[in-house]
Amino acid sequence: MIPYGRQSLDAADFNAVERVLRSDWLTQGPAAPAFEQALGQRMGAPFAVVSNSATSALHLACLALGLQPGERLWTSPNTFVASANCARYCGAEVDFVDIDPDTRNLSAQRLRDKLVQAKREGRLPKIVVPVHFAGHPCDMAAIGALSQEYGFHVIEDASHAVGAEYQGEPVGNGAWSDVTVFSFHPVKIITTAEGGAALCRDPAIAAAMARLRSHGIVRGTELTYDTTDPWVYEQVELGFNYRMTELQAALGLSQLAKLDTFLERRRAIARAYGEAFADLAELRLPVEHEDVRSAWHLYAVALDTPAWRRPLFDALRAAGLGVQVHYIPVHTQPYYRRLGFAPGMFPAAEDYYSRAISLPMFPGMSDADVATTIHIFRSSVRAVCC
Ligand SMILES: *Cc1c(COP(=O)(O)O)cnc(C)c1O
Repeated sequence: MIPYGRQSLDAADFNAVERVLRSDWLTQGPAAPAFEQALGQRMGAPFAVVSNSATSALHLACLALGLQPGERLWTSPNTFVASANCARYCGAEVDFVDIDPDTRNLSAQRLRDKLVQAKREGRLPKIVVPVHFAGHPCDMAAIGALSQEYGFHVIEDASHAVGAEYQGEPVGNGAWSDVTVFSFHPVKIITTAEGGAALCRDPAIAAAMARLRSHGIVRGTELTYDTTDPWVYEQVELGFNYRMTELQAALGLSQLAKLDTFLERRRAIARAYGEAFADLAELRLPVEHEDVRSAWHLYAVALDTPAWRRPLFDALRAAGLGVQVHYIPVHTQPYYRRLGFAPGMFPAAEDYYSRAISLPMFPGMSDADVATTIHIFRSSVRAVCC
């Protein structure tokens, strides 16, 4: 089976992890700060706070931005549940903004319309979380302008978009947002097994996220009183243990060094698919707008007829392609239905979901894997989509 995504690890990664295993520090040592510094440098952000997942990074970002019970966070329905759940951890309300069918990202136009109405009703969001679906950056200039106009914070869920570019600048540099979150889950662009990071420009937000990541504890110059007692720490608020281990951070550093190679390979596979499938009238291929470079986390196609999706999915799986579907719209999940959401509320995301299939896309695919995928996909479409 050729999976839809898979980590790429080599001897440098194994050695990096082994060096940590033989060292004094399995956690809270030098590797996590080194990974943070390298990430910040690569993405053009002054601060990076690594954590044990993107989910915890999203939670830390919401807390650091002061999201309170009763306040609102809006995100895309076409995402993994974590983009919305971070608000619920803070006791805040979730709402969704429907997608642009072209990029499958949260639509800036629909966001504007919803903001106009929310302002009238006194229900503006405190935070909006655009999700760079499949690695294609959202329309951040428009979303950033709206955040100024309506006074909300922006957390970019860039779990798919490590190494993506928007208007010639790396996603994560904070030009249009308060915080950018990355995921290092094995199917994502680079991996630390589990792991995530939150990048930002504001030192106070970075400090709050770092404090909350480790129980809300401060030491040294951050103590609330003067002391020379070297053992003293204070818990100043209720935090969590969301730390990344040294094993993970060392793996992340080693992976980050290969990011550009990974991206090149993903882009080459996307180009090969684009050429091989250009004549298939039965589906729509993913787009890449002129002012962005996608990180190509996913290669997600949309079939013209939803009824073809299940038979095509089954045919592809039977032929050895580990295809997947991204995403079941979050508002249709039972948990969100219990909060009052229902199918029909975000029709563009629901429509896209009904047609979607993600093909294998990961840097470890050999040329033979790509050729096999192309061959199986073309012949299955011919057999099923009619
Ligand atoms: C993977 C993913 C997450 C969660 O990442 P974890 O590191 O597994 O917590 C959040 N949002 C999106 C869009 C994702 O794809």
